[in-house]
Amino acid sequence: MSHTLKPGVVTGDDYQTLLKAAKEGQYAMPAVNAVSTSSVNAVMEAAAKNKSDVIIQLSNGGAQFYAGQGCPDSFEAKVLGAVSAAHHVHLLAEHYGICAILHTDHANKALIPWVEALIGYSEDHFSKTGKPLFTSHMLDLSAEDIDFNLSECARLLKRMAPIGMSLEIELGVTGGEEDGVGSDDDIGADNPLLYTQPEDCLRAYELLSPIGHFSLAASFGNVHGVYKPGNVKLRPEILKASQALVDETHGTGVNPLDLVFHGGSGSEKDKISDAISYGVFKMNIDTDTQFAFSKAIGSYVNDNPKAFLYQVDPEDGTPYKKQYDPRKILRGAETSMVERLDEAFADLGSVGKTLAQ
Ligand SMILES: [Zn+2]
Repeated sequence: MSHTLKPGVVTGDDYQTLLKAAKEGQYAMPAVNAVSTSSVNAVMEAAAKNKSDVIIQLSNGGAQFYAGQGCPDSFEAKVLGAVSAAHHVHLLAEHYGICAILHTDHANKALIPWVEALIGYSEDHFSKTGKPLFTSHMLDLSAEDIDFNLSECARLLKRMAPIGMSLEIELGVTGGEEDGVGSDDDIGADNPLLYTQPEDCLRAYELLSPIGHFSLAASFGNVHGVYKPGNVKLRPEILKASQALVDETHGTGVNPLDLVFHGGSGSEKDKISDAISYGVFKMNIDTDTQFAFSKAIGSYVNDNPKAFLYQVDPEDGTPYKKQYDPRKILRGAETSMVERLDEAFADLGSVGKTLAQ
């Protein structure tokens, strides 16, 4: 039987319902990095158009940009920008008629205080409305040793679980760099760090699942960014081995772990469907939607060069006001981002699968 949910930001038990529906229905949702109202609105528009639920996420830099690059105190800007984006989605997702999951992307050791400050805002929102502000946060301590990684995850999850929040953790390393977290030096098809050990996934399951809900970014050779073919070797069978080990040890049934696919941009389509069959419910996409957004601006400038040099044509007196109106430029970028997301929803099999009603 199929469940339905009210459109809007989804948290707590409703989030679990959404995850279950995705895993049982063998589809995943795109998690799109947004940096402005333009990109947030494009994601909601694309989700509504494709009748799919969607994950909207902010990196620390994206959150800062949302607050405004000129906003004083970069730490406060990262916190307030994320809070501002969250309120924007709370207000509008319902109106777009979709279920939106609100999430923050990679936070390394230095960014733990950022996540803790955001949890504070969710606690406050929970005490007023019965819902946290964010559905989940990510803590990426994969650059630290695993004892520290897991104990910090447990510490934060103990605080998040009582208000219905979920935590995404990372084991193994996603290659490449995402907004200052990680590095390009580790890219290479033979780097063992790029492939998570199933034993580590079992350890995370045993420690965290009694505390609350967590999802797991396990590495199977994935990298952030788009690189020359051959530099990336995806091995989704690593995910299968991790799921099997947890199932064999604890008799959970198939695919007990809720897995996340980082670095989805530029990935081969058949590896995406393999990953979904091994329990991936979320695929991050940033590089490809960034390119879609910027590409449209580039072509617009190419097609209307004079409108970016003159307000009035020096030869024939034509006014260019309509061409240089920023809405015209940004709308083209949004439309192009929506088109790239059409492809992502199709790749992930989520078209028409929204639970919103
Ligand atoms: Zn990532």
